[in-house]
Amino acid sequence: MENCIFCRIVRGEIPTTKLYEGEGVIAFRDINPQAPVHILVIPKQHFLSLNEVPLEQMNLVQELFSTAKLLAAKENIQDRGYRLVMNTRREGGQSVDHVHLHLLGGRQLGPSLVG
Ligand code: AMP
Repeated sequence: MENCIFCRIVRGEIPTTKLYEGEGVIAFRDINPQAPVHILVIPKQHFLSLNEVPLEQMNLVQELFSTAKLLAAKENIQDRGYRLVMNTRREGGQSVDHVHLHLLGGRQLGPSLVG
């Protein structure tokens, strides 16, 4: 996808703090962190949202979660706790149309699931 921000990050056209690169995913720090640890894990391949990930490629979603789990350990928040969020489409609060998983932690997060 030519103009997708996250595809441009994958291609190295936009600088970012890359923390991890796996077979199908990369992870980097969110540019507007909502918590001391705020990392985005994204597939290298473009999918608009979770809706567009075909069943036969759901292993990519597994890789997003296993990467987030690994990074929670690396960032020393695995025992304190953390939150994984995947906003999906407009009413879900998705603002970048490339599927991504937020890893949030490093402070006490609020009890509310919704904004
Ligand atoms: P969402 O609202 O769930 O679509 O989340 C998109 C996230 O991408 C937001 O938290 C933004 O701060 C983050 N973001 C947008 N552009 C960049 C960028 N160039 N580098 C890192 N994070 C970004």
